[in-house]
Order: sequence, then structure tokens, then C-alpha cells
Amino acid sequence: MAYVIPAPTVPALPIADSSDLFPVRRVYCVGRNYAAHAREMGGDPTREPPFFFMKPADALQPVQGGAVVDHPYPPKTTNYHFEIEMAVALAKGGRDIPVEKALDHVYGYAVGLDMTRRDLQDEAKQLRRPWELGKAADLSGPVGPLVPASRVGHPATGTISLSVDGTMKQKADLSDMIWSVAEQIAYLSAYFELAPGDVIFSGTPDGVGAVTKGQTLTGAIEGLGEIKLRVV
Ligand code: MN
Repeated sequence: MAYVIPAPTVPALPIADSSDLFPVRRVYCVGRNYAAHAREMGGDPTREPPFFFMKPADALQPVQGGAVVDHPYPPKTTNYHFEIEMAVALAKGGRDIPVEKALDHVYGYAVGLDMTRRDLQDEAKQLRRPWELGKAADLSGPVGPLVPASRVGHPATGTISLSVDGTMKQKADLSDMIWSVAEQIAYLSAYFELAPGDVIFSGTPDGVGAVTKGQTLTGAIEGLGEIKLRVV
């Protein structure tokens, strides 16, 4: 049996200090997981249950560390926002994973960006439509090299930051998350069977804002390095 068209390639992320790749199955993203960001988006930062949306796996943009990488400004927006986030890559899946065992499922962590056509997301919110036009643009999920948990452990504290042309726009601590990574995995696994290759974007702190062509974004997380993207 043969495929009737060329089979799509498996999206994959680089591994830090290695030529190996991490194959991606699904990308889950948590919304409003830092209290100050929930407030700036007009929400209530109390600990209500987390909510999730998804990006297509092939909307990730694998980014090698060290160099400045071009990031294309997507069509149909005039308000394209950065959201710095820690990306969590799963080595093991399962259903109904207990919080205490959740981190055993993690392969590693990376610096990620949940790039967002905010004008289209805002319109979707107003019209009670789904978020894909705002959140799932091609290449809207730049992710840097994955650092295996065997090397870095499970970062629960440390600075997460984003600057634009050298000016700090977002700066917080991983411990500011409302729902921890372990809690996110446990929660998601009650709704979906998680699997190796799943990636979770763990939410963004406050300070999100728009970028324009020509600007350079630098996203960094303590222990995970940094990525640099020039918007073109
Ligand atoms: Mn986000």
C-alpha cells in the first residue's frame, strides 16, 4: 500500500547540544496561567480551572539557539503579539495521570513563543467563535532547543523574559504560574489521552505586546537558554 500523495513530514524540535530531534504529535496551550497576564487580558486571576487551546503541530517553528532566526509576520493581522512561554515536551503519555507522577512523563523543556494575531483573537472572543485564526497561524509557535529533564531537572523557579530590540517587555518567574506544569499534565490527561511527542505551552506572564517587521525578539528562560527572532 502506498500513500496517494506525499506523506507530510513529522514536525520536530531540536535538542540542545545534540543533532537528535524530538518528533511532535500535538501542541496544547494553556490560557491565562499567570495572574498578572490574566488581569491584563480582562480576566479574573483566581484559581478557576485552567483552559486550553491547541496549535497544529506543524505551526511550530523549530529555532536553533545562538543565531538570529527570521520569523515571518503572518497575513491578515495588524496586531501580532508575542507571548513568552515555557514549552514542555512529553516522553510518555497516558490518561488520568496523577499530579505526583506527572513530571515523570516529561522529556524536556524549551523556550517557546505563542505568537498571536491578537486582533483576530479579540474578534473571535467578541463573536464567540473559535480561536484558530488568532492562535494557529503558520509558524506561530517558535520553540528553541529542548533541554532534557535528565540535564536540567524540572524548572519550577527561574526568570522567564522577553525583550524587543533589547528593551524588556515581559519578565516574571516560573513560580508565578497559577497551574504548575505537573497540574497542567494531570488536568489535560483527564480530557485527552496524552502521548509521547505532545508539547504543552505553559502560559505567558503579563507584558504581552505587538511586534512590527524589523524588530528582534529575544526570549529567555533561566536554565533553558534563549532564542532570537527577527520579524520579517
Ligand atoms: Mn499563550
